Amino acid sequence: MAEGSSSSSSGFDELGLSASILRAVREAGYVQPTPIQRDAIPPVLAGRDLLGCAQTGTGKTAAFALPLLQLLDARVGDDPCVRALVLTPTRELAAQIGESLSTYGRHLELWHTVIFGGVSEGPQIQELRRGIDVLVATPGRLLDLLGRKQVNLDRVEVLVLDEADRMLDMGFLPDVRRVVQALPRRQQTLLFSATMPEEIRRLAQGLLRDPVSVATARISSPVESVEQQVYFVDKVNKRRLLLDLLGDVAKRRTLVFSRTKHGANRIAKLLDDHGIRASAIHGNKSQGARTRALEGFRRGELAVLVATDLAARGLDVDGITHVINFDLPNEPETYVHRIGRTGRAGATGVALSMCDHEERDYLRDIESLIGRRIEAVDDHAYPPSGQPPAPAVAPRPRAGGGRAPAGPARRGSGRPGRGRRRGGRRSPS
Ligand code: AMP
Repeated sequence: MAEGSSSSSSGFDELGLSASILRAVREAGYVQPTPIQRDAIPPVLAGRDLLGCAQTGTGKTAAFALPLLQLLDARVGDDPCVRALVLTPTRELAAQIGESLSTYGRHLELWHTVIFGGVSEGPQIQELRRGIDVLVATPGRLLDLLGRKQVNLDRVEVLVLDEADRMLDMGFLPDVRRVVQALPRRQQTLLFSATMPEEIRRLAQGLLRDPVSVATARISSPVESVEQQVYFVDKVNKRRLLLDLLGDVAKRRTLVFSRTKHGANRIAKLLDDHGIRASAIHGNKSQGARTRALEGFRRGELAVLVATDLAARGLDVDGITHVINFDLPNEPETYVHRIGRTGRAGATGVALSMCDHEERDYLRDIESLIGRRIEAVDDHAYPPSGQPPAPAVAPRPRAGGGRAPAGPARRGSGRPGRGRRRGGRRSPS
C-alpha cells in the first residue's frame, strides 16, 4: 500500500459513497481506501476540480472512478449520451480503466466503452451509437472519430485526464488540447499526473478551476529514481574536475554540496571566477543573503548553488537537474538526502559524486546503505594517481520506497473496445 499524507484510518463508508458503490468496493475486496482515495473522493463527490499527483499503483483509478460513477448515477437522464470523458495515453491504461469501471459500476445502470487506435473502429463506433455514459479514450482515435462526427461530446460534464505527464512524453498534448476545445463548458475536471513538469502545471492551470490538490508520497526513493555516478579523483584535482563536470553538459540547475562552509565559499568563488554564476549558502551567511541566493537560483539567474548539508535542509527548489557531491558525506544517510534534491516527484535527476582516496570508506558505507554499487566513471581528465582498486562491497539490500497496494486482480468480464460494458446485471440496450 502506498504511503499516505494523513494518518486517519477511516474506511470507505466515511467517504460519502452510495450503497451501490460501497457494495461493489466490498466485492472487489477493498477494505481500506488508499490515501489518494481518502483524499480525493470527498472533494470530487462535492463537485470540485482535482489535481492529483499520483502514480499507477496508488489506487488512483478508483479515486476518480468511484465518485465519477456516483455523480453520473445521481444525474442519470433519459437519453444516454457521453457525460464523462476519460483521456488516457495508452490503450493498456484505457483498457484497465474500462475494467475498473466494470468492477465499480456493476450495481449501477451506467454504460461505458473504451476506444483506442490500432484496432478496427467499426465495433467502437457501434458502441458509441448505442449510447454510453462514460467514454474512455486515447486522444488520437478520439480525434479521428470526432472529426468524422462519429462521436458527440456536446454533453460531457466531467473530464478526466489520466497520466497527463505520459501524454506529454508521448507528444499527445496538442491532441489533448484539441479534444478539450471540442468539449462544452464542463462542470468538473480531474487531472492526474505522476510528475508535475512545467507544461503539465500550465495545462492544469488552464483547465482546472480552484482545484483541490492531492498527492501521494513518492513511490520510488531517490535511490531508484536518480541516476548516480562516482568519479575517483585526487583531492587536488577536485576543483578542476568540478569545472569539467559543470562545463560539459548543460546543467541548468545544479546543487553542489560541500562538507564545510569554507569549502562552499571557495567553490562558489572558483565558479564565479570561471564565469559560472554561483552562490554559496551556509550557516555563516545572513538570512538576507541566503534568501537572495535562493531566489536567484529559483529564477535561473544562478546556475549553481553551493550548499552545506545544514543549509540545504528544507531547501525546496523544483527542477534541480544535477546534484554534485564535491565531498562525500561521512553519514551515508546524508548522501540519500542530498541526491533526493534532484529527481523530485518522479522527474529524472543526476547525482555525480567525487571520491578521493580518503573518502573511499564513506563511499563503501553509502553503497552498503543503498544496497548497490554506484557506477564509476573512468574516462575523465583527472584519474587518481595511485589508482587504488575500486572498493568491493557486498550491498546490503534496504527497503526502498513504497509499493503498490496489493489489491485483488482486476475484474471485468470482457475485453476493451468489445462492446458497451457494465458489470453485473445486463440491462436492455
Ligand atoms: P491503480 O493505481 O488505480 O492502478 O490501482 C492499483 C491496484 O490497486 C489495482 O489492482 C486496484 O484494484 C487495487 N486497489 C485500488 N484501490 C484499492 C484499495 N482501496 N484496496 C485494495 N486494493 C486496491
